[in-house]
Amino acid sequence: MSQVDTPPEDFVRSSKARGDPLLSVENLTKRFPIKRGVVFQKEVAAVQAVEDVTFAFFPGETLGLVGESGCGKSTTARLVLKLIEASGGKIMFDGQDITNLSRRDMRPIRREAQMIFQDPYASLNPRQTVGSIIGTPYRIHKTEGETKKKVQDLMDRVGLNPEHYNRYSHEFSGGQRQRIGVARALALRPKLIVCDEPVSALDVSIQAQVLNLLEDLQEEFKLTYLFISHDLGVVRHVSDRIAVMYLGHIVELATADELYNNPKHPYTAALLSAVPKGAATAQLTDRIVLEGDVPSPVNPPSGCVFHPRCPKAMTLTGGNGVPDNCREGFPPMGQVSENHFCACWYPLEKGEKLHRAAHQ
Ligand code: SF4
Repeated sequence: MSQVDTPPEDFVRSSKARGDPLLSVENLTKRFPIKRGVVFQKEVAAVQAVEDVTFAFFPGETLGLVGESGCGKSTTARLVLKLIEASGGKIMFDGQDITNLSRRDMRPIRREAQMIFQDPYASLNPRQTVGSIIGTPYRIHKTEGETKKKVQDLMDRVGLNPEHYNRYSHEFSGGQRQRIGVARALALRPKLIVCDEPVSALDVSIQAQVLNLLEDLQEEFKLTYLFISHDLGVVRHVSDRIAVMYLGHIVELATADELYNNPKHPYTAALLSAVPKGAATAQLTDRIVLEGDVPSPVNPPSGCVFHPRCPKAMTLTGGNGVPDNCREGFPPMGQVSENHFCACWYPLEKGEKLHRAAHQ
């Protein structure tokens, strides 16, 4: 394996990827300052939510972004849509640098890039009818044509009864509410939809229906998805490529099959080992229990941010601590194979099992 610095444009394209990226981010960073003082607020520390994140994805592709709760994936989603401002880095959308665009200049971009939220209960206004909710984008962007007809067509397309146009969101089940969210995101025929944990609040029996709907819509409307989830079992089924995040950093990026069959980063291997058998075909079948909690993003570890919990690093020294380069130098994103990138000084060999002491 060669550890090389990889420029963003070299990140692998899936078989679906054609042409230029629809969206790319380079060295994207977000720090939330922590301030003290009543009158003169002074910054005393910062939460480092997203750190130097670089990736690109292409028209028609689904890029999965996975990691534990608090790893920075939802912040990344909000950054790429400029719902919050980045502290640093560059965001390109459809060939345009949108990093420093004002709210007003972002308006045409907002038509092209929409979001589906995690909680279909909280993301819909209970005082609005479903017709009003789905019709909101048409009113904001002052589109032509009869709104009611367009909304009812959309309701029909996402599997809702168009005759329920005047019902309120609380009259719908969780799965139906998420279909309302999908219809609202689809209203302006965007190119990109960011799906932030779109099925995690739903009953398992309903999840597959919503995922199938998203796949059908992708085909029909030539959509590109950024699909965010903590659930590797879900992400595998919908993604062409997957990026794994830990403590604000992307630590591995590969095609879905490559990542599941040949994980290189010890953190990815640990995550995969927790996926129920049958939902994934990871090389590691023993469950790997990571010791300790995820460190605080206010004071992240030096070097490789995973080093305090990394079972591989312990193996390298026979259980006597962590190698110096893991503790001191953040590993660059290295190319493992044509379709596979990993940020680790000692990536796993194919079939390599992690240290027994770290297993359950
Ligand atoms: Fe573990 Fe070292 Fe690789 Fe980090 S760089 S994941 S500590 S082996």
